[in-house]
Amino acid sequence: MAKILKIAFLAFFFALQAASASAVNVESLAGEPIRVVVIDPGHGGDDTGAKGPSGMAEKDVTLSIALKLAEVLKERMDARVLLTRTSDVFIPLEERTAFANANRADIFISIHVNAAANRDARGTETFFLSMDATDEDARRVAAFENNAYQAGEAVFTGGDDLKDILLDMASTRSHHESSTLAEAVHMSMLGKAGREGRGVKQARFTVLVGATMPAVLVEVGFISNPSEEKWLSSRKDQELAARAIADGVASFREIMTRRGGFIEVSGKLTQD
Ligand SMILES: [Zn+2]
Repeated sequence: MAKILKIAFLAFFFALQAASASAVNVESLAGEPIRVVVIDPGHGGDDTGAKGPSGMAEKDVTLSIALKLAEVLKERMDARVLLTRTSDVFIPLEERTAFANANRADIFISIHVNAAANRDARGTETFFLSMDATDEDARRVAAFENNAYQAGEAVFTGGDDLKDILLDMASTRSHHESSTLAEAVHMSMLGKAGREGRGVKQARFTVLVGATMPAVLVEVGFISNPSEEKWLSSRKDQELAARAIADGVASFREIMTRRGGFIEVSGKLTQD
């Protein structure tokens, strides 16, 4: 069974790669590099995500911030803004990425909140995909977030084939752009939302695997920290976080426009 899943995954992945390689979009040359944004509120349904000391669930915080982010982006950008969920439902991780790919999203932003045994842990971390985690802490965060996958039917544990795919991905154009997007969103969270920064990091998040566009995962704050739980629960601060992420998207758009669109459009760094 595991082998069949692995083969199915590989077939799916290579189909995506092929589709993306042929998807050089001339319209993007018009200087509007972001036409479709997919926002992914982490967790949902039976998958509550992390829980705060007073009982606040990650799935509710992520949905609330994501809905506000969608509102702000729709106001500010001439782009289609889609969410992987708009209510309290469970959606398997791989379906979230597939949704972004199917809608030909130009960027994918997954919203999460962090938790740690150390109740004092605080601040924002912004991630993009890599086989090798930046550090032990980044690996731990990805392991926690990937656990949601087990609530779905298929559990894909991966092996050398997956490692090869991920290493291959690491050299693709999206990787570079994901890093730029992560940096832009992160800096905005620090500057605009006044968040303490824990850095832009890399780790193997299942929800980012196979995304064919710049994709990031924002751990907005630590729900395990009582004062951060309060911050994350406040409507005003959720809006502040949403506006900061939107500002990050806007500055990413400016960077990409200055570069003349996505790298795949310029064709300079496309993968052979
Ligand atoms: Zn999460």
